Amino acid sequence: MEMIRTKVAVIGGGPGGYPAAFHAADLGMDVTLIDREENPGGVCLYRGCIPSKALLHAAAVIEEAREAKEFGVAFGEPAIDVAKLRAWKESVFGKLTGGLGQLTRQRKIRFVRGTARFADSASLEVAQADGTAVKVAFEHAIVATGSSPASIPGFPDSPRVMDSTGALRLDDVPARMLVVGGGYIGIELGQAYAAFGSRVSVVEMLPAILAGADADLVKPLAQRLKRSFEAIMTQTRVTGMEAGEREVRVTFEDAAGKRTEATFDRVLVSVGRKPNSRDLGLDRTRVEVDAAGFLKVDAQRCTAEPTIFAIGDVAGQPMLAHKATYEGKIAAEAIAGKRSVYEPRAIPAVVFTNPEIAWCGLTEAEAKEKSIEVKVGRFPWGASGRATTLGRADGLTKVLADPASERILGIGIAGPGAGELIAEGVLAIEMGAVAADLAWTIHAHPTLSETVMEAAELLHGSSTHFTAAASKSRN
Ligand code: FAD
Repeated sequence: MEMIRTKVAVIGGGPGGYPAAFHAADLGMDVTLIDREENPGGVCLYRGCIPSKALLHAAAVIEEAREAKEFGVAFGEPAIDVAKLRAWKESVFGKLTGGLGQLTRQRKIRFVRGTARFADSASLEVAQADGTAVKVAFEHAIVATGSSPASIPGFPDSPRVMDSTGALRLDDVPARMLVVGGGYIGIELGQAYAAFGSRVSVVEMLPAILAGADADLVKPLAQRLKRSFEAIMTQTRVTGMEAGEREVRVTFEDAAGKRTEATFDRVLVSVGRKPNSRDLGLDRTRVEVDAAGFLKVDAQRCTAEPTIFAIGDVAGQPMLAHKATYEGKIAAEAIAGKRSVYEPRAIPAVVFTNPEIAWCGLTEAEAKEKSIEVKVGRFPWGASGRATTLGRADGLTKVLADPASERILGIGIAGPGAGELIAEGVLAIEMGAVAADLAWTIHAHPTLSETVMEAAELLHGSSTHFTAAASKSRN
């Protein structure tokens, strides 16, 4: 068997693994990056963040064109060329993953295409894509194997019952589609399919969709979905599913025990993701895995085996690309002997729906649950000039601060561009900013970023465009 000796072996080329490999190489180390795909990118680029956002962009264009009639610009109904849309989406991630391949070569990182397993705590066996095997002896390894869609036992094995990977393939635009699971992946993909013409229903066991986000931020989206989705069934379980050749028959049971039945052309099951920690040969190392399958790591992302680190989805929540990237850079620095540790004060979460929802730091629900006293400045977008020019008065920006010190603890935004706007909130929390820092920072006019400034002003009662009295009457 061929033998490679390397300083750092990175297993998995997703948004955790490739930045870890790139950073380790930039720090002067010899790096071997192992992934099953032709190029780095991982779930995020091949079958996650990027293809879903490409489809959501197309969906947003359709919705915006439809709504333009409100201000006197009318277009005809869109004609959707599914094959072309699919090809465009594939070209987007093709370009990006190809670019990552180039960056890998430019950094002189050895890229091994195959599936790796630990032989022991200092070497890996890689079954390569061409059928041969190679041994990789390492001084340090970084496990960045990511996660896979969770499935529900008993659901039929049928092409009509898809996970997110299947839905992103966009084989067709089904007339009737059921989304099982009201988390961000299901709602994003459901909204894209609805814009392309599917009649979409969502079923969620919990009392609300997007359970991790504050209810006031979800409200503008929920109102829109009421119009564009066929049904949103909360506190409802799927109790049976039978897939035929042409349709899927689904049985539901609501909180009162009432049973109903409906048929769909396709079902998207998006009920969470599970870490890819099995079949890695971890039992041949001292790496410890928790009950949910996540690798246990310390603040430098080192496992119980001192030569092995773990980052990204396989190393715990939140399962988000940017958290994986951050951890990857920390692990590379730790291996290089730097004293870097993973201790973010705020990790942004973004739901890329229309409107977008984004938050970071403390949420109001979390503050309530943990009995943390907070002061909240809530600025409705109806009072924003920029939001009004966009016809998007339904948005909201809120800032949560510690009542005594006025230190910013959390920010939540609902509205177009929330995913971009949240960066200011993350920086504010990371820098230990207080309300006055945001309120007295000059924000360009007319922009949606002014809503962050005004929400911070509202912590003191009134802001330029919203009074304390109006604020009280809304709350
Ligand atoms: P992954 O991206 O999962 O990459 C792991 C890689 O390791 C894969 O290429 C896999 O093939 C490879 N691998 C696994 N086992 C082995 C092995 N034994 N040997 C060799 N290679 C192996 N996150 C966001 O932050 N924003 C979003 O908008 C967003 N949208 C998403 C939309 C969808 C539909 C999905 C499914 C996910 C989305 N995510 C999003 C989550 C995001 O994709 C993950 O958090 C992120 O990809 C995790 O990165 P990672 O590096 O840990 O692993």
